[in-house]
Amino acid sequence: MIRSHATGTPLRTLLFSLAATFSLLASSVQAQAEADTINAVASFSILADMVEVVGGDHVTVTSIVGPDSDAHVYSPSVGDARAVAAADIIFVNGLGFEGWISDLVVAAEASAPVIVATQAITPQIVEGEADPHAWNALDNAKLYAASIASGLSVLAPDRAEAFADNAAAFSAKVDALLADASARFSALPEGRRTVVTGHDAFGYFEAQFGLRFLAPLGVNTEAEPSARELAALIRQIRDEEVVGLFVENITNPDLVNQIADETGLEVGGRLYSDALSVRGGPATTYLTMMNHNISALLQALEPSN
Ligand SMILES: [Zn+2]
Repeated sequence: MIRSHATGTPLRTLLFSLAATFSLLASSVQAQAEADTINAVASFSILADMVEVVGGDHVTVTSIVGPDSDAHVYSPSVGDARAVAAADIIFVNGLGFEGWISDLVVAAEASAPVIVATQAITPQIVEGEADPHAWNALDNAKLYAASIASGLSVLAPDRAEAFADNAAAFSAKVDALLADASARFSALPEGRRTVVTGHDAFGYFEAQFGLRFLAPLGVNTEAEPSARELAALIRQIRDEEVVGLFVENITNPDLVNQIADETGLEVGGRLYSDALSVRGGPATTYLTMMNHNISALLQALEPSN
């Protein structure tokens, strides 16, 4: 429920009038969705791809935060409110990833169920807070798919078998990639397991594969490191056996490039941490994103001989 008061933020004021407009459309959109495809909204591009894979032809998916964009610091638009208000079902990552989503759902007066895709995942805790980047462990992706399938099945029980089949096919591909990647990462020598990237998005990935990621930014991208913190990281990189540096698609590459200048290490490429690539890029789906990241890391970490 939106409270009407003089001190409302511009977004809320705008949404107040939008909600009235879209309540008129809601009944016809709902009727069409029931007869046809499910209108799903996902908070960010990686999750949107998983919803598309599990939903198949039965679902159309809108992603709020687009490819190559940072969901940690996103500001929802009027168009996002429109999409959320018209949705049949809304998928979010949870674990504090999209701090803006609750306000958006409330302000848009969305009546659709909100499914937390990480509901079955035990989060890693970093400095007292849940690390939201759970998708970066391949085995967690199967739990995302299961949550998506069960959310869609509650909405459309007649299509539950199709959602379960799609989730199972996705999980089989995840397992194949996981087996291949595990074999190659576990064969790495002890001294070739540490890399640097833009922010702490790979905690689940490093736990899965026995690697170590260092980063100038924490699990959230909001706070810039102080000069002292950056100097300490650069000392640590010089002292430890760091093999490669990677920029990310969602964070400013300046910090990583500065670290490269000061340590003499080369930038080994780009990792897709919190968002897919735009169309034509190397990471337009969850599976191609993980495959790209795994290949880029192995290329830097495997000894060349
Ligand atoms: Zn992140």
